[in-house]
Amino acid sequence: MVNGARHKPKVIRNRLLERREELSRLSRGTAAARRPVELDQSRVGRLSRMDALQEQEMAKDTERRRDGELHRIDAALKRLEEGDYGWCLSCGEPIPAARLELDPTVSLCVDCAERSSAGHH
Ligand SMILES: [Zn+2]
Repeated sequence: MVNGARHKPKVIRNRLLERREELSRLSRGTAAARRPVELDQSRVGRLSRMDALQEQEMAKDTERRRDGELHRIDAALKRLEEGDYGWCLSCGEPIPAARLELDPTVSLCVDCAERSSAGHH
């Protein structure tokens, strides 16, 4: 059985670490945008207040997605360390290398991922 991903754990580890570093850099960059909006500033008009709130919501949303990805990266790094990386967490089958290449944080094979996103595991 050949699964390229399992033959280069160092490469994958580096990719994951780089991505994690990138995410935390982005997160630091947008920290200012997530500061609470001051609603009682008289010089801020109603429309720009709404804009500010909307922007803040978007920033929070981005941050939530980023957090989710960070968690997936950490989980993938842990699996790498424990030697579980590259195996579907649900059915135990190997995850195709091409799939891992696309997103090194995936923890399910295609079948299981589809089942889980369809809502009935
Ligand atoms: Zn599976």
